[in-house]
Amino acid sequence: MAVQQEKPGKIDYGDARLTAGLSVFSGAFDAVYHYEGDDLGVVYTKERTVIRLWAPTASEAYVVLYDSWRGQPFRTCNMSRGEHGTWLLQLDGDWAGFYYTYKVLVGEQWNEAVDPYAKAVGVNGDRAYIGDLRAADPDAWPSQKPPLASPHDTVIYEIHVRDATIDPESGISERWRGKFLGLAERGTRGPNGIPTGLDHIADLGVTHVQLLPVADYSTQSVDETARPQSAYNWGYDPKNLQVPEGSYSTDPYDPLARIRELKQLIAACHERGLRVILDVVYNHMYDGYRASLAKLVPGYYFRYKNDGTLSDGSGCGNDLATERPMVRKLIVDSVLHWATAYNVDGFRFDLMGLLDRETMLDIRNKLDELDPSILLLGEGWIMDTELPRSMCANQAQAAVLPGIAQFNDCMRDAIKGDPFEPAKPGFVNGAKERREGIMKGVTGGISYSESIRLFAKEPSQTINYAECHDNYTMWDKLTLSTPEATEETLARMHRLGSAIVLTSQGIPLLHAGQEFMRTKNGVENSYKSPDAINRLDWRRCAERQEDVRYMKRLIALRKAHPAFRLHTADEIRGHLRFEACPPHAVAYTLRDYAGDDPSRHLYILYNAGESHATVALPALGEWRPLFGQSDIEKLHAGQLTVRGICMVVLEVAD
Ligand code: CA
Repeated sequence: MAVQQEKPGKIDYGDARLTAGLSVFSGAFDAVYHYEGDDLGVVYTKERTVIRLWAPTASEAYVVLYDSWRGQPFRTCNMSRGEHGTWLLQLDGDWAGFYYTYKVLVGEQWNEAVDPYAKAVGVNGDRAYIGDLRAADPDAWPSQKPPLASPHDTVIYEIHVRDATIDPESGISERWRGKFLGLAERGTRGPNGIPTGLDHIADLGVTHVQLLPVADYSTQSVDETARPQSAYNWGYDPKNLQVPEGSYSTDPYDPLARIRELKQLIAACHERGLRVILDVVYNHMYDGYRASLAKLVPGYYFRYKNDGTLSDGSGCGNDLATERPMVRKLIVDSVLHWATAYNVDGFRFDLMGLLDRETMLDIRNKLDELDPSILLLGEGWIMDTELPRSMCANQAQAAVLPGIAQFNDCMRDAIKGDPFEPAKPGFVNGAKERREGIMKGVTGGISYSESIRLFAKEPSQTINYAECHDNYTMWDKLTLSTPEATEETLARMHRLGSAIVLTSQGIPLLHAGQEFMRTKNGVENSYKSPDAINRLDWRRCAERQEDVRYMKRLIALRKAHPAFRLHTADEIRGHLRFEACPPHAVAYTLRDYAGDDPSRHLYILYNAGESHATVALPALGEWRPLFGQSDIEKLHAGQLTVRGICMVVLEVAD
């Protein structure tokens, strides 16, 4: 996530230092007001509705009931004090269909806020909704998750709900374009009859679809009441953490529609053999000064600098204080809600390096109890926030974060060059000196040798990628850094970049459209760019079906050969050996039935040199082509000659 949103200035919702006798910043506050119950928010039945709020510093608290998403209050109900800083209200009878907010008195200040535990909301998420949310379950729910034998078998495809289907040439029903249901649609066809949307993704052979944030995000980014064409946003500006975004539903005014339709999308993915990862944003809120959290318990939920202003490691104006027990609880409960109510298969943590380690481990432990095949991955960047780096869930702490994967930016930058210096090339388009970065990716980011080592303890902790939603697409970066290259040469560089990702140890991630060399016309940060920049261009996909087939062959190669998916660092150190090759290439073998591979030995050569390369093959038997045959100029007597800019894989069968 690399988003810079404009934010309004500071506002006070009550003095955090003076309320309730204890400073919210003190450890004593955490001890006295630690509520562990699982009933925060609404517990609804036809007979009664019970609402519990955690707001220790409030001197009075009310539930304001509304009979609509807009208009004046229907009734205001006094809450009574409960245990550990909570407030309780029991409403007898059936309150389905009503909306509510909280109103709290903090010091001299009255604040009205949305329930942080809201599971359903009205349009734009300004009021929470009371009702039986099981009514939003689609038929045959919960869906059956596709099997996943090991996290190493994962191939992730990262996509934005709207991008996937908004293109008029997508062939997706017009009323569903840009919506959850558009991506759930079956049998869609684009130019030349190519499969589009979910059909296209399933056809590639990837195992997981990773959705950019689908939780409710700010009205300032996308107003759910407005025409859908009027604004675009990636959605990294959270408003309600446990509710789907309304603009992706066919009816944002119906609190159940967005829930039902996201579940329909997840079920559709599962039916197509695809697991689903949600991109979750728990590092900051849209507005740290005006968020509901800040109104309910001023000072508690965010990190502050010594001068009293908000910590801003996120670059979005605030950092959530995930290390505080009740913030941690909110995040853990929220993840568990998505995992159970929505039956999802993984979570990608935006700016995970801002979250504290203990919170991430707590999430891993609780998910292991539920379903250990649920993947956790995150951006473990080492960042500045008002919490010591050693306490944060970043790359430097990977050794104590087992079962949590982190993005390998070293590999990404080695492949295509520095993302922030457009003109600088990477390994595939000219930078020989980047070959060691490639080797650090090939080995899954583990400690392979003194010089070839990154953050990972085990290969399942590394996400390899050449591009994602952030920064230039690989195509745009290659175009900017090698302007003299022909279209054909650029395509060869691009294919080599994808080939490196899909043959490396660890977990590969593809950016939607990478298989047809997606371009955003040189836009580096498209978080609010129009559809014309962000949409998946199905005509380009149709024109580049050769490239799509190449990607499918890469994925099939990875799936057919467990040697590319070794489970432990020891196996990698034991079976992977780098081989002699020209300076602008990387060559290695995966020896001796690595990972119980069907081939005895594999030989992999990435030649990034513009002209052909000749290598002497290790004398391990008779080498035969396995992949990239059309790029082999000569294979004879232990010598291999390949064309410029390509990947070739050979095998010794047995
Ligand atoms: Ca929203």
